[in-house]
Parts: sequence; C-alpha cells; structure tokens
Amino acid sequence: MWRSVVSSSERTLRMADPTVRPISAADITTWDYEADVVVAGYGIAGVTAAIEAARAGAEVLVLERTGGWGGAASLAGGFIYLGGGTPLQKACGFEDSVENMKTFMKAALGPGTDDTKIDAYCEGSVDHYNWLVDAGVPFKESFWGQPGWEPPYDDGLMYSGGENAAPFNALVDPAPRGHVPQMSEKKTGEQGGGYMLMKPLVETAEKLGVRAEYDLRVQTLVVDGDRVVGVVAKRYGKDVAIRARKGVVLAMGSFAYNNEMVRSNAPRIFGHPAASIEAHDGRAIQIGQALGADTAHMDATEVAFFCDPQLMVRGILVNGRGQRYIPEDTYPGRIGQATLFQQDNQAFLVIDEAAYDEGMNAESSSAQLRAQPTWVAETVEELEAEMGLPAGSLQSTVDLYNRHAAEGSDPVLGKKSEWVKPIVGPFAAIDLRGRTGGFTLGGLKTTVDSEVLHVSGAPIPGLFAAGRCTSGVCAGGYASGTSLGDGSFFGRRAGISAAR
Ligand SMILES: Cc1cc2nc3c(=O)[nH]c(=O)nc-3n(C[C@H](O)[C@H](O)[C@H](O)COP(=O)(O)OP(=O)(O)OC[C@H]3O[C@@H](n4cnc5c(N)ncnc54)[C@H](O)[C@@H]3O)c2cc1C
Repeated sequence: MWRSVVSSSERTLRMADPTVRPISAADITTWDYEADVVVAGYGIAGVTAAIEAARAGAEVLVLERTGGWGGAASLAGGFIYLGGGTPLQKACGFEDSVENMKTFMKAALGPGTDDTKIDAYCEGSVDHYNWLVDAGVPFKESFWGQPGWEPPYDDGLMYSGGENAAPFNALVDPAPRGHVPQMSEKKTGEQGGGYMLMKPLVETAEKLGVRAEYDLRVQTLVVDGDRVVGVVAKRYGKDVAIRARKGVVLAMGSFAYNNEMVRSNAPRIFGHPAASIEAHDGRAIQIGQALGADTAHMDATEVAFFCDPQLMVRGILVNGRGQRYIPEDTYPGRIGQATLFQQDNQAFLVIDEAAYDEGMNAESSSAQLRAQPTWVAETVEELEAEMGLPAGSLQSTVDLYNRHAAEGSDPVLGKKSEWVKPIVGPFAAIDLRGRTGGFTLGGLKTTVDSEVLHVSGAPIPGLFAAGRCTSGVCAGGYASGTSLGDGSFFGRRAGISAAR
C-alpha cells in the first residue's frame, strides 16, 4: 500500500522504533477511510472533540484502539474540576468566583502552570458546566463534606484539591469544585461518575452523526509537506490508512504505561501506574515528537496515596524521621505527592485507639484502603522504638502536636481545628511506606485552542490534541477533576479548531 520509510541504519538499531515516524501522503496508494476530522481515541478528550467538530459541520470519524468507547474516563470516579460559580455550586450554597478559581489553580497546580490555559479554563468553566448538562450529563444538587477520595454516594459536589485546607484556605476563599455526574448505583471502576459522564456524551456524538471505528490502533501520522493529513493505524495486524481532510485530533491518553518513557521522564512513579489504563502507552506523544512537536511538564505526575482519608484526618502523618510534613486534612492526592516527592515515599500514620475506631466507622468511598495498625503500644516511646524511628523523634512530634491540640490548633501545619485533638494512648501506627502510585500529566505542548506546537513555537498545521497526551492545566500539582476537566474543556477546543 505504501513504501517503507525504514532506513537500513534504523533496521540495525532494533531498540529504535521507526514506526513512530510520519509517513508521506505521496506513499499512500489507498485511503481505507476518510473524514474531515479524524479523532484518535474515544475517551473524554476524543468524545468532546468529536461533538464540537460535528457541531461545526465537519464529518467526524473516531478511531479507537479497544473494542468500545470509554477509555480511562469511563472507569474514573468522575470528578470534573469546575467552578467560578456553577449552578451546582450555587445550588449547594457555595460562592465562587473566576478570580478565586484562577488564584487557587495557579498556586496548587504548579510550579510552572500555563496561565493562559488556566485563565481560559476558569473563564469558561460555568459555560462548560452548562455545556455538559445540555449534553445530558446529570449532576445531583448535593454536597459531600466528609474527608475522602470521592463521595461514597451520588452527591454532586465535593472539595477535590485541598481548597479548604492549609495553605490554600489562607490564600483565597475556598470553594468546592469537584463536580461528579450522578450515578444510580455507584461502582467505581465499573459504572461510576466517569461512565455517567461518557455515556451521554457518546450518545450526543452519535446523534450528531459521528462515526467510530473500533479495534483500530493509531500508529503514526501522515503528512503532506508540513501538514498532517491523516493517520496510519493497525487492525488485526493489517495497516489501515485514514485520511483527514481538515485535521487530526490526538486524544490517546498519557504515557503512564510506557515504562521507557516513565523511566526517562517521571521515574518516581516507575513501576507504579495507577488510575490509568494500559492503552496509555505514550504513542500520541511519540508520533507528535517524531514530527517535531514540543512537550511540557513531562515529569509531572498525579500521585494517589493508598490510605483512607477518614483515618488520616484523625491522626498525624510522619515521615521516616518521625516528623509531620503535611496537614492531614488536605486533598489526599496532595499528601501522595508530598510523600513521594519530598519524603522519599516514607510515611506512617500515628493514631490513637479512639480516633482509629471513629475513622473505621466513618462513611467512606475508600474503605478498602483502611488497614489494621502495623504497631500498637501503650506509650509513644515504645511505639517509636517498635517503628525503628530515632529515639525521641516521634515523642517530640507528638508532644508538640498535643501541646497546641489541647487548644484545638495546629500552628505548625495548619490542620483545621475540627480535626485537631490531642493524641492519647493507646497508640498505633500504620505503615504507609511505598503506598503511592499515579499517572503522568505531561505531554504535547498545545495552544489554548489545542493546536500542537512545533519546537519552533509555531502550530503544526492539521494537528490538534487534548487530554492526558497533552500538558494541560496541571504542571506539577494536581486536583481531582482536572483530567476529565481539561480533557473535556480542551477536547472541545480541539474539535472546533480541527473543523475550522
Ligand atoms: C479509576 C480511575 C479513577 C479516575 N478518577 C478521575 C477523576 O475522578 N477525575 C479526573 O479528572 N480524572 C480521573 N481519572 C483520570 C482520567 O480518567 C484520565 O486522566 C482521563 O480519562 C484522560 O483523558 P484522555 O481522553 O486523555 O484519555 P482516555 O479517557 O483514557 O481516552 C483515551 C482513549 O484513547 C484510546 N487509545 C489509546 N491509544 C490509542 C491508539 N493508538 N489508537 C486509538 N485509540 C487509542 C484508549 O483506548 C482510550 O479509549 C481516573 C482514572 C481512573 C482509571
């Protein structure tokens, strides 16, 4: 069908993968499929791009590697990070403003945030909420205020980024921005909020005439001069060529499951992918790079911390030297990042018996992350000895914590008074060393209109991208909902730009 572009020197270098390189359109003799806009990947970025491209009048074809739509998005808990005064925030009695949302996101998601993207995202957030609702995504007007990874029931709104915890609650008035589509029978990983987001969006796309081809794995880009005019994919071992008359949108997810890329770019999560799927193999990034595309924040990762927040909030988290390092009532993903990035993945939860029992009985969406104490002791001195901590280290931490906790305050790290109580015996500690995992946040560098940027700084004609194969609103920090959030927000923009 087309000539191989593999040179003899590449054939000898078997570690190299020449198939990522672009193919010239002149070498394609038959196009198997054709559309105005070709979208690679039918997850959140792909479906939103497809809808907007179709609404702009384009004929749209989505190519999906697996046997069905959904991607990581349909397995997700479903948080979508939205704010600035959405109808759901208002219905639940919260005030928010675009400026407060921007301030929080720039402070919490850096360092090095793309402020143009965050500005657009915050300014368009209420409109984006309404767009999702119009497309059939349901949100229940109720707020879940307990510590947790997600609401355990079908509540629509929750804090999902540490907005109401130190240091951010002192920086800007907090507002919850984790919006969760309502599910009838919550089953995270099966039919959770992410599925309830994807299902109506795919139905909307289908009504607009978007076509989809499954079991089709996009391999590389086809170019005519410097313009992207299609892709080549594999189906059951055979090459398939797909022509894009107007543009190609890459929406194939992150590189969390590409060991080589993770080792080179984000080694701290090497061997510990979480909240991701194997199809996130970095291919979109590689085929963009092979065309000269720039990347951003390839070292940034979301970090899950495998412990139930209902327990963490009631104890103190200490590092390998017995010292506290983070307010325990903050977003658990922030705890994960602090533990992995700054504490060498060393963490212990120290908690007294009464607080442990209370935490074990509290309602939670992540009861499976609760653990039996690893060590128990009548005194802190005995506990720290059993844990192998330097003598006096945990004792002085507990003494200092208790001294201020007696007055209900935590001047050291700013845990909110509602969660501050002196720790009294009997004492327990849960070993949380190495209990982290995550997914990558870096990827192709795109404009605010989702054009993929060449290293020269100019957009690559015909090539657009969104979702976790791009660098979005998170440059280093993370808040739950920002992936489905920026994937859908900039996915829409990718569709509009590609159809233009
Ligand atoms: C259990 C779990 C919980 C999560 N909870 C949340 C949450 O609450 N909020 C949040 O914001 N994020 C959450 N996430 C993360 C979020 O789901 C992803 O980061 C997000 O879906 C990324 O969007 P995407 O469009 O880039 O990728 P996806 O939604 O995964 O879509 C990518 C699609 O591309 C397909 N694909 C890959 N390679 C190819 C190829 N070569 N050719 C054709 N198709 C290809 C994939 O099969 C997939 O269908 C969660 C993830 C998981 C797994």
